[in-house]
Amino acid sequence: MTVKQLIDKVFLTEILKGMALTFKMMLSKPVTIQYPDEKRKIYPGFRGKHAFVRDAKTGRQKCIMCMKCVNICPSQCISLKKGRDENNKPFLERYDIEALRCIYCGYCVEVCPVCALVLTEDFGYCSYTKDAIFFDKDKMLKNWDEFVAKLSGDVYWNKFWRPDGVDIAKMPKSKREQAPVPIRPTAAVPSDTVPEKKPVNPAEKPPEPAAEVEEKPEEKKEVV
Ligand code: SF4
Ligand code: SF4
Repeated sequence: MTVKQLIDKVFLTEILKGMALTFKMMLSKPVTIQYPDEKRKIYPGFRGKHAFVRDAKTGRQKCIMCMKCVNICPSQCISLKKGRDENNKPFLERYDIEALRCIYCGYCVEVCPVCALVLTEDFGYCSYTKDAIFFDKDKMLKNWDEFVAKLSGDVYWNKFWRPDGVDIAKMPKSKREQAPVPIRPTAAVPSDTVPEKKPVNPAEKPPEPAAEVEEKPEEKKEVV
């Protein structure tokens, strides 16, 4: 045993060093916060709850059903179904994200050519049921409304719509020309008032009008 080791053993220097560090930290500013009473500042680029951007002019989502987000998602947690309206025009019948399987890579947001999708800065959405974290088309729009209601400005921009390091010249025109989106509904079309299209269900066709029955004049009985 060396002399230093002997001194350490006799005077418990390692324990005294540990105690000194404990007292020092007791007097310093804590790094922990009292969540949920206190919340940290969320910085741009945080990837949280999924949302569909609500178009301030139409009050509806902007998806053009290109399937890029579905194909790029590494978790395969996005599904989309196209429907046909009464004029045989395609429309977004279903759009679902199973958020429990999402790894928050942000690829779906980056790849969307019309910036219809966003991973908002909302992060506190745990639940006791899986259904609450399964986002369909309507929930995605609701998520957007709840998110923008907390913002102070009139426009919103997500940095993953034009990620750093990607040549803007190689992006689609719609993405190159994308400006910060207005987050307040215009006076002309308030949000939530334009109904979404519904698929034509043959089972729900209105009944055919009944054929008209020709009324015969009553036969007059001869009175004798
Ligand atoms: S963030 Fe990534 S994993 Fe999550 S839905 Fe988008 S592409 Fe899929
Ligand atoms: S990438 Fe955008 S436009 Fe294309 S299907 Fe996904 S959400 Fe819709």
